[in-house]
Amino acid sequence: MLDQVQRTESDDVRILLHCRRMTTLFTSQLATVGYARVAVQRGVDRYPDGLTYAVPVELGDLAVGEPVIVPLGAGDTPTAGYVIERFDETDLDPGRIKLIDCRANEPPMPRQLIDLAKWISSYYCAPIGMTLAAMMPAAVKRRVGLVGRTMIDLAGGAAADVKLAPKQRHVLDVLGAIPADRRPVEIRQLRDLSDLATTSPIKQLISKELLVVRSRTAVEAAWIEHALDATVPERLTEPQKQIIHDIQATLKGGFSTHLLFGVTGSGKTEVYIRLIEKVVEAGKVAILLVPEIALTPQTGGRLIARFPKHRVAVLHSGLTAAQRHQQWMLAASGAADIVLGARSAVFAPVPEGRLGLIVVDEEHDGSYKQDQIPRYHGRDVALRRAQLASCPVVLGSATPSLESWHNATIKGSYRLHRIENRVPGMRLPIVQIVDFVAERKRRHDRRVHLIGPRMESAIGETLDRGGQVLLLLNRRGYANYIACPDFRCGWMMNCDDCDATMVFHLNRRLPAGGFVRCHHCEAEQRLPQRCPLCDRHVTTFGLGTQRVEEELARKFPQLVEGKTMLRIDSDSMRGSKDFHHALGKFGAGEVQLLVGTQMIAKGLDFPNVQFVGVINADTAINLPDFRASERTFQLVNQVAGRCGRGKDLGLVIVQTFQPQASAIRLAAAHDYEGFAKLELADRQRCKLPPYTRLARIVVRDVDYTRCVNTARTIARRLGELADESMRLRGPAPCPISRIAGKHRQQIELLAESAQRLQKVLVAGRNEGLLHAGAGLVIDVDPIALL
Ligand code: ADP
Ligand code: ZN
Ligand code: ZN
Repeated sequence: MLDQVQRTESDDVRILLHCRRMTTLFTSQLATVGYARVAVQRGVDRYPDGLTYAVPVELGDLAVGEPVIVPLGAGDTPTAGYVIERFDETDLDPGRIKLIDCRANEPPMPRQLIDLAKWISSYYCAPIGMTLAAMMPAAVKRRVGLVGRTMIDLAGGAAADVKLAPKQRHVLDVLGAIPADRRPVEIRQLRDLSDLATTSPIKQLISKELLVVRSRTAVEAAWIEHALDATVPERLTEPQKQIIHDIQATLKGGFSTHLLFGVTGSGKTEVYIRLIEKVVEAGKVAILLVPEIALTPQTGGRLIARFPKHRVAVLHSGLTAAQRHQQWMLAASGAADIVLGARSAVFAPVPEGRLGLIVVDEEHDGSYKQDQIPRYHGRDVALRRAQLASCPVVLGSATPSLESWHNATIKGSYRLHRIENRVPGMRLPIVQIVDFVAERKRRHDRRVHLIGPRMESAIGETLDRGGQVLLLLNRRGYANYIACPDFRCGWMMNCDDCDATMVFHLNRRLPAGGFVRCHHCEAEQRLPQRCPLCDRHVTTFGLGTQRVEEELARKFPQLVEGKTMLRIDSDSMRGSKDFHHALGKFGAGEVQLLVGTQMIAKGLDFPNVQFVGVINADTAINLPDFRASERTFQLVNQVAGRCGRGKDLGLVIVQTFQPQASAIRLAAAHDYEGFAKLELADRQRCKLPPYTRLARIVVRDVDYTRCVNTARTIARRLGELADESMRLRGPAPCPISRIAGKHRQQIELLAESAQRLQKVLVAGRNEGLLHAGAGLVIDVDPIALL
């Protein structure tokens, strides 16, 4: 996102060149027609947002959403921004209002997105200019891939009685033979079609006014194709039919919210597809949001394959800049019937009045939350957008977020649709919980075993049968502790700049056999050989996917690393291409076993997966985050859902140190509702979301004292602004008290309603107390609390 906010020098030069007026004129000196509020693409934060400028007469038709250049600050620096409001009167002194310089050479922002930006800016406490900047991809603003082409057409005059050279006559004949709807053609294409060596005969015809030039600038728009053949189910299940029928009935009825709660493999995607069919048949556009599309290529592939006659624009971070520009333009021009993408696709520029449906698949997924300004939640923005567009929104999940579940079952503001069973021919897997401690006792050698005896034999049997295996461990690297073996010494290797331990990563090409890396600031160091305090040889311990991989190679000599066994995590996969490639090989049966982080827990649909193993279900459960339990439930449930999608019954083994933990016990029993009930009762008792609304404020500073003092000042003032019903916690050090050299102090503000929370935040913003930036994070409805 940064590159969207920071302008380069050349941008400034471009802006300067583009503006005819270099000196600022004030309203009193020139004829103007009313005023405009302009959101500049800088971190200027005022509430309500935007700065007031006067509109010069020649820009009288300037509309909301148009990009403009305005003078900013004492130096009148030409600055780009969007018009977010037009009005006729103002209380401000007209003599002090500056004039808009000119229109900027960028695509306009659809009006609906301006309205959405206003809401995001106010709800998530983000400067509106930065919000708008984040909504339009930088590639679109910079018009990456835009090419100017010289197109030639017949002038329409009579050429018969004009004397022409044979080559010229030939060109006219060739062009005349091309059907009118395929013209104009590019000059070089015409040259080639006419078998000419140069374009001079064409140019001569232009000067004789027998041909005309139509310049065109266009992005080379190409539809993204995925060759995935999609089988259409012969018959919908009864619940599918019923739900499609019910939601379809609301397609014309304005805004409504539906929560589709269906177990993994119950055919939710099929429901989305059928609803989208209805929407596009009616000439409307549907947006389908999926979490991290690069990680869920199958959903995208299936969707595109099921709409061969319709146009699907794809928006996600895996595209090149030019592709992103193209895809955005396809949506903006109205050529796309469906927009598919990750979080930011919620900002797809669907033409006014055409948005008919938004679907948010896996609505519980944490990747819908953006962790930079504006810190919005894609699902919640989707709700707001659907409301503005007056269309339904469908949220789907096998493990709904407790927020959505609460809305659907307790508040009743969402309509709940359930699918309790898997589609015919697919059964939910059997899930066994294995006590890690007990398993360890059964081993008699002293080596580390991340794969216990029961999991080991289940993997062996599955491989022997020709079945495929998925193994999940949500931790990268080899070992997450590097320490002195003498516990009386107690030395442990921490990152110099973070309050975190360093992680050991294997790399056989390095002399030490590997290196250490901090997973918070990415700093790397050599593996120390000896303890710096007592000079003993260091040891490494703890878990990591690389260690599992090593253990698998030892236990299953029939598996070949990199061939029949692949490790999938952000270290081994450089980009989405690597990942697609790996999945392709897994789908083809070439790879028998995948071991990886949660990248493999999401949405994969491979019928031959007969065994899923969770190496350690506890990696998240003890984190100091009130959603730790909810996340553990989701992860175990989702990864188990990858199993048993074929005719064979699947088996899942979950290894844990806490076999009694409700998140693990109920996930094994496929009992989402039981879990939700328990967890909601807890949240209610502790007055936590979804029963309250939370805003988290984090102060970051390299100077510890300054960090604490700033946090105290903010907390004190917020305490004064808040009413008695609200709770203020902190300031206190964040669970990770330092990252990349910056100390971190947090303040949490809890209110009974979003409105009450907003009131305090708005007041804090207006006073200049809460100014989101590098030193201050304001996170409304946060989902990461470390
Ligand atoms: P979910 O999204 O709920 O996990 P999917 O929509 O991916 O489930 O469906 C799982 C599998 O079942 C897919 O391969 C899909 O093609 C298939 N499927 C969906 N609906 C039906 C149906 N009515 N009959 C048979 N198979 C179906
Ligand atoms: Zn670090
Ligand atoms: Zn030591």
